[in-house]
Amino acid sequence: MNVHTEGAAQRPRLEPTRCAICRIENEADEIYAASLPPDALTPATFSARRLPDRTHHRLVRCRRCGLVRSDPIVDQESMLALYRASTFAYEHELDGLKATYARALRRLSGLVPSREGLLDVGCGNGFVLELALDLGWRGVRGVEPSQDAIAHAPARVAPMIESGFLQRGMFAPASFDAVTLFQVLDHLADPGAVLCEIRRLLRPGGVILALNHNVDAWSARVLRERSPIFDIEHTYLYSPETMRRLFSQAGFDVISVKPVRNTYSIGYLVHLAPLPHGPKASFLPRLKQSKIGQIMLTLPLGNLCLLGRRSA
Ligand SMILES: [Zn+2]
Repeated sequence: MNVHTEGAAQRPRLEPTRCAICRIENEADEIYAASLPPDALTPATFSARRLPDRTHHRLVRCRRCGLVRSDPIVDQESMLALYRASTFAYEHELDGLKATYARALRRLSGLVPSREGLLDVGCGNGFVLELALDLGWRGVRGVEPSQDAIAHAPARVAPMIESGFLQRGMFAPASFDAVTLFQVLDHLADPGAVLCEIRRLLRPGGVILALNHNVDAWSARVLRERSPIFDIEHTYLYSPETMRRLFSQAGFDVISVKPVRNTYSIGYLVHLAPLPHGPKASFLPRLKQSKIGQIMLTLPLGNLCLLGRRSA
């Protein structure tokens, strides 16, 4: 299926969601109503790190456990087609992302002396795979749906990347000592099922790392609906508590859930800032290319990192 070219018969379907922790559809309160222009369901809105445009489905919070989710979301088949056709347009932000993710990857690597078998789910152009190789990991693999991101993978890691969403059967059970999800957990339609599959792929004692947004962070509390985390690409949004519960349920002993600092250029911070879209789109390219725009800052902006171990 191609969302780009096919007509109304192939339009994405919106489907109701249930809490990934409590597994129930009801008993949730609306936080924000939908903000969805008619042309929202295109590969452009599913492209990583696009200019925030306040496009999102209705957002609700589970009354039982507090987990925040989009309700509805697009059907799985359409979601895969949208991500497959999405573009890779954050090459100029790779230095900051590498600095942020390398700090987390070093912590993970300290827990796994063998460094044999690391899978990065949603690996983009494979820059985390390169970091892992530099840290001495062997048997490094990635999975990524965006064809454009895979096309931008450096030759050193391109053969290590599988195309698509992580599927059962893609890798043999107990193949990895570590699995990482950098800004991926927020995007999954069924995070519980993906975590169960990851548990199967890990060897006994294997370690999982997930780095994503914190829905309880100061930035989300201050900006409220203007926070870029309330976005059509995000199916679920986690707090330290809901992350801990989800991973425990999926068979992981949670080692830690901590806020992390992000390294971003000033240009990218302005990219994320809740400024009027039109003026921002016009001056941002010049700012990003200027000396000031390229200054790097490391700040606690509202991301969380969970480390867990496959329980016995
Ligand atoms: Zn719940």
